[in-house]
Amino acid sequence: MECLFCKIVKKEIPARVVYNDDHTIAFLDINPANPGHILVVPKKHHETVMDADNESLEKAIVVVKELSKKVKEEMKAEGVNVLQNNGKFAGQLVPHVHFHIIPRFQDDMVIISYKRSQIEDAKMEEIRKKLE
Ligand code: 5GP
Ligand code: ZN
Repeated sequence: MECLFCKIVKKEIPARVVYNDDHTIAFLDINPANPGHILVVPKKHHETVMDADNESLEKAIVVVKELSKKVKEEMKAEGVNVLQNNGKFAGQLVPHVHFHIIPRFQDDMVIISYKRSQIEDAKMEEIRKKLE
């Protein structure tokens, strides 16, 4: 079965498009966390940000920036979350790379939560070395 966002790119299924160029499309999330929740989608199909080509990502992130400014202004938002999920255990439902732009308001009911931990120094250094 073909990818949902590829179908939106090809206009095979409708979406409330707010931006469209050769590389990137952006449309309203069908189940918004807040009014004005946008998905920014590189048109080329790649499942995750790790798979995606750099050009697609570079183009998309500039659209993320511009639409974040726009949504903040037009929706009178007090803040904006930019989120991006990779893999089902990271909460990715649609396996076509995309960025969420979620306008935020004081006392809104959006919950983006994770429990913070503390890791001992030696372990932190081991991790840093692995990742450098
Ligand atoms: P993910 O969990 O993969 O990061 O986010 C996928 C998002 O796509 C969800 O927020 C979901 O509401 C949205 N979504 C799923 N199906 C459709 C659709 O057919 N149209 C639109 N506009 N958004 C969709
Ligand atoms: Zn796709």
